[in-house]
Amino acid sequence: MTTTTLPDQTPAEQTFESFGLDPRILRALSDQGYTKPTPIQAQAIPVVLLGKDVMGAAQTGTGKTAGFALPIIQRLLPLANGSASPARHPVRALMLTPTRELADQVYDNVARYAQHTDLRSTVVFGGVDMNPQTDALRRGVEILVATPGRLLDHVQQKSVNLSQVQMLVLDEADRMLDMGFLPDLQRIINLLPAQRQTLLFSATFSPEIKRLAASYLKQPVTIEVARSNSTNENVRQMVYQVEDGHKQAAVVHLLKQRAEQGLSRQCIVFVNSKIGCSRLARHLEREGINAAAIHGDKTQTERMQTLDGFKSGTIDALVATDVAARGLDIPDMPCVINFDVPYSAEDYVHRIGRTGRAGASGDALSIFVPGNDERLLGDIEKLIKRSIPRGKLEGFDPTGERARQEESDRRRQRTDVRRTRGNGDGEERPPRRHDHSGSRTAFRPSDDPFFSRPYEPSNNNANTQPADEMVAAALSRGRQQPKRPVAALLGGVPRKS
Ligand code: AMP
Repeated sequence: MTTTTLPDQTPAEQTFESFGLDPRILRALSDQGYTKPTPIQAQAIPVVLLGKDVMGAAQTGTGKTAGFALPIIQRLLPLANGSASPARHPVRALMLTPTRELADQVYDNVARYAQHTDLRSTVVFGGVDMNPQTDALRRGVEILVATPGRLLDHVQQKSVNLSQVQMLVLDEADRMLDMGFLPDLQRIINLLPAQRQTLLFSATFSPEIKRLAASYLKQPVTIEVARSNSTNENVRQMVYQVEDGHKQAAVVHLLKQRAEQGLSRQCIVFVNSKIGCSRLARHLEREGINAAAIHGDKTQTERMQTLDGFKSGTIDALVATDVAARGLDIPDMPCVINFDVPYSAEDYVHRIGRTGRAGASGDALSIFVPGNDERLLGDIEKLIKRSIPRGKLEGFDPTGERARQEESDRRRQRTDVRRTRGNGDGEERPPRRHDHSGSRTAFRPSDDPFFSRPYEPSNNNANTQPADEMVAAALSRGRQQPKRPVAALLGGVPRKS
């Protein structure tokens, strides 16, 4: 495979007009408030307009969607038509994404950029009713955004024909491979014409991605905005070492500490498993932190609601698995916490790529359990080619032991103060001493005048009775009780013979 690598710099004078984009597209961009292309757009748009295959290293948040969507729309414009006939609207561009959320976001962008044209687009993904998707496909669309599994369901139902696809986008291809979509991708690609333009985007260029590109891309132009497998310089990375059972407490501590320091409360907390994800979200809620879990077992509606809540600020901590968080377009993420060190070092790059975007600064904090996570952390540091500083959780009190000790000290001090103030008749009572040293001599009753006086029964109080009288009264009450077989008290009555 021969590749061409473009320079990393965006020419300062680059504008959307300079690409020769159609005025209908420029109008849509101005509706969106975009004034100039992002670096990935500056590099990708001219190459895609030339019809070349592209291998792009870019993460969500860099503007990569417009980087491929705008030139695709431009290239399809000559075929746009207002006919009502579905036959005049075959699928010409197919965009595949690993997750429903990303599919929905890509479609949303495409629909906006094409809004002033006659091009039709739709999106299909699993977890929702197929029928409305089938209706939209049958009416005909030029641009189809899909997740692989659901697309194959529609292929099987014959609600979509892919034989006229001219452009294929594999978005977040590394994640599609991680999620085991390779066989589905192969089946889909086999349904497409061999003569087509293929664009592959991936946050990292692993050997598997390179193999995929070698199979399906023809002399691709490689576009890299940030060096692959690199992490952003604006992101402050830190690792905190805790004991295994103290990870939840550590996350609570970090979130509360950020709130106390006046930092933004919003944070994505990454967890490796779905069950751990729900468990942590519940724990944070119990600790008074507005949190919600987002993972693959949540329904599409729940995931959308959670995401809306996070974007609107009613949820502070979005507790997510890697799969669910992929492709979420959440601008200005100030902090990412790795509750679990990810199993794959590349996931670490993805996770922390959610913060420090567009020159903003961000924090990427990881909880690390020595013994369990050393190898994973080593893999990460090897991949990003730097060691991550180890931090100290100032004031961290995982078991509440320190808080209990402080409270007990405070209580003791209060008691001591009361005692040394005296008992009202001028006599000072010595403070009671607590000796945990095991010595029995620390407190002697003879120290206290109360204990040196002989016992005097008091008759003044009507409620008090000398002990021997109480015993006698109790015995006489006992004699007045009706006689019951003892066995009844033990749960049964002896059978009469
Ligand atoms: P993406 O990486 O494609 O998910 O884009 C991330 C965000 O950047 C989205 O909210 C886009 O709407 C926004 N965006 C894309 N291109 C531009 C641009 N040229 N100027 C400003 N915002 C943009």
